[in-house]
Amino acid sequence: MSKAGYRLISGFFYSPYGAKVPRRTLSTSKRIADLVTAHQLEQQLKSSEEYVVHWFRRDLRLNDNHALSLALRSGKKVIPLFIFDREILDNLEDTSDKRVQFIHDTLQSLDGALREQGSSILFLHGQVGDCFVDILRRFPISAVYCNKDYEPAARARDSQVEELLRHHGVAFHSLKDQVLFEENEVLKDDGTAYTVFTPYSRKWKAALADAKLQHFETSTHLNAFAPILHPKIPGMQQLGFMKCDYPHYPTQPSISLLKRYEETRNLPALDATTHLSVHLRFGTISIRECVRVARANSETWLNELIWREFFMMILYHHPRVVTDCFKPQYEAIAWRNDEQDFHSWCEGKTGYPMVDAGMRELKATGFMHNRVRMVVASFLCKHLLIDWRRGEAYFARLLLDYELSSNNGNWQWSAGCGCDAAPYFRVFNPMEQQRKFDPDLEYCKRWLDADDFYRSPIVDHAMARQRALTVYGAALKSMTA
Ligand code: FAD
Repeated sequence: MSKAGYRLISGFFYSPYGAKVPRRTLSTSKRIADLVTAHQLEQQLKSSEEYVVHWFRRDLRLNDNHALSLALRSGKKVIPLFIFDREILDNLEDTSDKRVQFIHDTLQSLDGALREQGSSILFLHGQVGDCFVDILRRFPISAVYCNKDYEPAARARDSQVEELLRHHGVAFHSLKDQVLFEENEVLKDDGTAYTVFTPYSRKWKAALADAKLQHFETSTHLNAFAPILHPKIPGMQQLGFMKCDYPHYPTQPSISLLKRYEETRNLPALDATTHLSVHLRFGTISIRECVRVARANSETWLNELIWREFFMMILYHHPRVVTDCFKPQYEAIAWRNDEQDFHSWCEGKTGYPMVDAGMRELKATGFMHNRVRMVVASFLCKHLLIDWRRGEAYFARLLLDYELSSNNGNWQWSAGCGCDAAPYFRVFNPMEQQRKFDPDLEYCKRWLDADDFYRSPIVDHAMARQRALTVYGAALKSMTA
């Protein structure tokens, strides 16, 4: 240990508060012998060079990253930043959370790639505003770059950060990267937002035909990352979480899978969907790359990517859907909300094999096939008459690919109360669904024990269907009366 707490390790200065500055960023006359206090180092950083920050959030990749590509071309050295946001982490229910582990692993490999370039990610753990105050104190920065996040809470957070930075004369650049078309780029002819998918998707595709699917090159600018080695990523335990496992899915769509997607996508036993949802969620793949591949290989798959943007657009224009039914008249439904039934559903013990297999897959892996998600969601809302918000929250807790707009939109669709939703009188028959989409019980057997097939159903289908029609019908009648 040198004077004033500085340590020289492998050619880098460690400051007592963490940042490690490589020798080559300091002039010879400012080598370690001259460094006395942390304050002096900070002063030296301030006088010598200005930086820009790239704030990683839902864009955890180096390639084809819009904001990052601009930061790297800004002419300033780029400090890559990731904030473990306490407001998010402290509110997670489980200390074993697959999403946190996924983010942790991804950041670790990103950081490793940056260290090979002589740079590293600045990891902070705290409240976002406090972290930026800390950054402004420690580094002379002129701008922060990030990719836009469209969720209501993220938008509120970003405008607070922007305000704080503006107060310090620092620019805040937030770029479109997560979607092809933002909330106001695909609108009806009268300038209002769509609420029905089919005309929205038609307009979306017309806009795509005119759009240039830009690739945001970064590989030729990696030397613009600031040569500062910050401390390594804190361990899961330091963040308050236990290590856990999750299924690792490829970050590229398989072309042969997409060629068969139309015929096989509804068969859960085949695993014939791309599993890219987690990568799209955390930005480990670029949406532009997905759309390029979809356009060349599968119109049906392209439609699924459009559903993703449709629900994002709905959430943007109608943030009340986070808590309320899109169609207000559905608020009158007299949900039974029976606790024992809810428990049986969560545990995969309803006596309906496809429902039970899906719920067990979710618990074990954090994933569930889309067809099965539709079956279990419909079963909860219609057969058990449990408020869709309870199912939505349970999915939000466990899904590796949890995404507010898609989860909310699909739950409201299944419950019948969403925009462009299934009509309320369409009640999936879970046995029929299984016979059609898992005829040999191959998927169900993967997740259930032999005994589970003898479990008595917690509710009779014909009775439950009639009950749902009566309760839904009464609610809608009461609102129109
Ligand atoms: P693929 O079939 O390969 O589709 C490609 C991509 O298109 C997906 O990764 C996803 O980004 C998008 N997509 C596909 N279907 C939908 C859809 N119905 N709505 C919106 N986007 C879609 N998807 C999430 O990403 N996060 C969620 O939290 C989520 N919750 C859901 C809850 C319910 C009740 C239901 C019925 C569906 C939900 N979905 C959610 C949509 C869908 O089930 C998943 O996107 C899909 O199963 C992910 O698997 P995949 O990547 O193999 O999909």
